[in-house]
Amino acid sequence: MNRGRAIDHSWFSNRNRLIFAAIVFLLAYFLFDGPFGYSSICTKCGKRRYSRDWAVPFTPMKLATIHAETDTPLSVTLTQKAIVSQHSHEWLFIHGSGHGITCAIGSGSSLMGVTNQRVADTIALLHDRGKIEFRDRLVTGVLDPKSSSLYRVATGFPPPITISDAELNNWIDQQSQYIEDLRRVQ
Ligand SMILES: [Zn+2]
Repeated sequence: MNRGRAIDHSWFSNRNRLIFAAIVFLLAYFLFDGPFGYSSICTKCGKRRYSRDWAVPFTPMKLATIHAETDTPLSVTLTQKAIVSQHSHEWLFIHGSGHGITCAIGSGSSLMGVTNQRVADTIALLHDRGKIEFRDRLVTGVLDPKSSSLYRVATGFPPPITISDAELNNWIDQQSQYIEDLRRVQ
């Protein structure tokens, strides 16, 4: 009997050691390594995607990637008003960190500002008032990382929805001129 208890005691000790080691390893993994988490934006509709690359701890061996897509005010407007048609999303990397990488920045970061409500409101107003040419110019411009900052000036401050047609045409002329002026300065 005594020998049996000794064996049981040893088995529990070993098991506790294993559990302790596993906890320490998992803590170290999540504190110092963890999955690589990153976000992207679709250059066609402005939708956001959050992703996690799960890898074998402390190695580059990827096990799985989990994605979660989320709408933005811009993607809701473009979809609901059928401004953008059915498409395969074209994801542009915004930023990410984890799994040994402190901070990674991609060209998608220059599109971050275009997902806000005011950009969506400007495009919705132009759509509702039939200003399709300028609407499409703005949609293309704000979703292009090379020109997004230029076009943001024309989308960040929407005119009031009560604006008259003549005033709206005048506003479009002013914004077009402003964009061209900024383009020349760049
Ligand atoms: Zn898309």
